[in-house]
Amino acid sequence: MSLREHLLRRIAAEGPLTLAEYMGECLLNPAHGYYTTHDPLGAAGDFTTAPEISQMFGEMLGLCLAQTWLDQGAPAPFALVELGPGRGTLMADILRATRAVPGFRAAAQVHLVEASRALRARQAEVLAEAAPVWTDDVGALPEMPLFLVANEFFDALPIRQFHRDGSAWRETVVGVEGDALRPGLAPPAPLEMLAHRLEDTAEGDVVELCPAAPTIARMLGARIEQHGGAALIVDYGDWRSLGDTFQAMRGHGTADPFAEPGTADLTAHVDFEPLATATASAHSLLTPQGVFLERLGITARAERLAAGLTGAALESHVAAHRRLTHPHEMGTLFKVLAFHPHTTAPPPGLEPAGPRE
Ligand code: SAH
Repeated sequence: MSLREHLLRRIAAEGPLTLAEYMGECLLNPAHGYYTTHDPLGAAGDFTTAPEISQMFGEMLGLCLAQTWLDQGAPAPFALVELGPGRGTLMADILRATRAVPGFRAAAQVHLVEASRALRARQAEVLAEAAPVWTDDVGALPEMPLFLVANEFFDALPIRQFHRDGSAWRETVVGVEGDALRPGLAPPAPLEMLAHRLEDTAEGDVVELCPAAPTIARMLGARIEQHGGAALIVDYGDWRSLGDTFQAMRGHGTADPFAEPGTADLTAHVDFEPLATATASAHSLLTPQGVFLERLGITARAERLAAGLTGAALESHVAAHRRLTHPHEMGTLFKVLAFHPHTTAPPPGLEPAGPRE
């Protein structure tokens, strides 16, 4: 049975699905899910990510984590963790960039949180030397200092979506029309969990929330506050989500998310405020990726690498630097939020959160 047929039957039996239920099936259905069955990244895939664009991204994040580790007194052992490592490129760049930091590699136990069996196999090849341990449960990470990166992980987690109707909300649901899957709106209902959004929205506005995100942030924050460490969360989005950001990506362009379930990546912008409010640790100011990478010295690094390049390789290197940092490319849309213990300063490149955030 195809995923489409499975969804048609599920809806016939249970009624319309929330967007989160639909996304969960499309991305992680054990037999047909997009991530379960695909390697979505790279030129032949559906989208690309910062570490796939340039090694400099992982180098900057690696040095940021290593400096934070040194600033916290070089705790050993510690867990070096990535959520949703994709092809393993980011972790490989982090490990390479931190090789020269005395003691860092020897103290690091690499843990990868990855739901996809196909991508785990790829990560096992790329990261064999680091002997990683896999889990699909953030709660199963070891009780020790946690130095963590998550790039484009939270945007892949299922979201629910609501349209404001007076002081109530109508949820986006997925139903069936003829034999097609179609989005629709459930009847209006008041929602305690969206009470704070009545302040900053108007009639008809769309807000989204990611049920799994605060739970994950709470678990990470508890580890970091208790044992030390830091988490660098990088994703597209903003402090508060506003508007319909649910989209399907296929072949590096947008696609209809309801047409062929399981064959396209489904994502939504990340709403950072609920992550920051859920964590028991301190958090940094939400900072644009371009600003963060510039503060960490990406331009000096780019110039060093450029010195060894000519022709097309040089052009693509210059374009990659621009793509990661320029405000019209990923520089402003993508943001960085760090968790860190209340007793320490935020990681390099980030400032303490102000009174409003
Ligand atoms: N961080 C990588 C890949 C981003 S794609 C990069 O920057 O290139 C999203 C990654 O998260 C994939 O590895 C996907 O399989 C994984 N993923 C998605 N949903 C997940 C979930 N619920 N639990 C664990 N991993 C998940």
